[in-house]
Amino acid sequence: MTTAPRSLAEPVTEAAPTTPPYTSPYESYVYAYPHKTAYRPLHDRPLLRDLWAAEPQGALSLYLHIPFCEVRCGFCNLFTRIGAPGDMTSAYLDALERQSTAVRDALQGDARFAAAAFGGGTPTFLGARELSRLCDIAELRMGADLRAVPLSVETSPSTATADRLGVLAERGATRISIGVQSFIEAEARAAVRPQSPDEVAAALHRIRESGVPVLNIDLIYGIDGQTERSWQRSLDAALAWRPEELYLYPLYVRPLTGLARRDPGAPDPEWDAQRLRLHRHGRDHLLAAGYEQVSMRMFRLRGTAAPVSGDDHACQTDGMIGLGCGARSYTSRLHYAFDYAVGMREIRSIIDDYISRPASAFAHAEFGWEMTEDEARRRHLLQSVLQAEGMATADYRARFGSSPADDFPEELARCADRGWLDTAAAPERLRLSAEGLAHSDAVGPMLFSPAVRARMAAYGLK
Ligand code: SF4
Repeated sequence: MTTAPRSLAEPVTEAAPTTPPYTSPYESYVYAYPHKTAYRPLHDRPLLRDLWAAEPQGALSLYLHIPFCEVRCGFCNLFTRIGAPGDMTSAYLDALERQSTAVRDALQGDARFAAAAFGGGTPTFLGARELSRLCDIAELRMGADLRAVPLSVETSPSTATADRLGVLAERGATRISIGVQSFIEAEARAAVRPQSPDEVAAALHRIRESGVPVLNIDLIYGIDGQTERSWQRSLDAALAWRPEELYLYPLYVRPLTGLARRDPGAPDPEWDAQRLRLHRHGRDHLLAAGYEQVSMRMFRLRGTAAPVSGDDHACQTDGMIGLGCGARSYTSRLHYAFDYAVGMREIRSIIDDYISRPASAFAHAEFGWEMTEDEARRRHLLQSVLQAEGMATADYRARFGSSPADDFPEELARCADRGWLDTAAAPERLRLSAEGLAHSDAVGPMLFSPAVRARMAAYGLK
């Protein structure tokens, strides 16, 4: 692996904290490493053409980000705004077209896409015709063959309408993921996700009717007032649809979100214990119902083929092209994106800026993180070991020429001391135990590099 020139990103000048002590099973959800709060302006604004010139482009992932939602759920810190006044969605699609043309030019005609995903926000905030246009952008501008590769699309109960789902099914969607969070109305309200059980059932019915082969349902545990009993009612209501996938998310209260009633940084052992209890209960219930655990959050119906994913979780080696103002892109040397924010005013201004850009403004990377050899090792380890199947140590050695135990002795010793490693799998595999998987949100942050930790700590939340 080569490393990017030092001038690509600002030097890390903040004090680099050492690995912090364990405080909670719920430190942070590591769905991508490093998090965007570690990104900084790239002062030399490298040309995408140069960044991609020497990259393998035979099996890229394509991600299109739609930053609009009807409401802002109380727990959500994703890059999205409430509503789209006037003709904002069509202006956003115009900008996506300009960006995709610029990016495709930078790839110089060699790129092949192995997976695609529309995420957000809520991609189905777009109407049926706009979704058709979004598929055109992926196919005609970017060259992705949506009917030949896995295509995952996120939706919500009120926007999963028959006409939108019809377009998606016809264009090749293979997976629809719907955020339900809770089938109990009072719990959905407590999570600031107002919706009625009837509305949810009608949406699930329409998704099944659409014929898209994989249905994923997202649920959340740790909501105020939620008990093992009410959690099981939600799980059973989801299981009635026999979804091919279920994601069980612990509730987080993050700064600047609607639920930030608690001090997000304050320890809350009682809440931690509630979430751990509900995690174990949910896990055991799904295992007994014929599901296999893929990661801390993900469960797959046994017998369902594992798709190639278009999101962050699957591939440690292939590149990703993200389009839209909240998307990231990955080369082997640089992760890059536009500016990031959680607060509504800042998000709006970043979206407005994105929409007003001419095509030439999409030819550069602006914010990012340089992937050094050490960071590539960490990312590989993180994304492999947080999967239930763990990581073949021979694969790691083949890629990096060393063993994880050589590279991360302190971190792995800490996991072993806490009983988070499955000793029966060693030495061929590095795998978390069931309790280790339950503590994935503590294991992940433990593997962050001091430089990433320092950058994240110094990030001024906005
Ligand atoms: S959780 Fe999903 S639907 Fe809710 S605000 Fe966030 S992106 Fe939108």
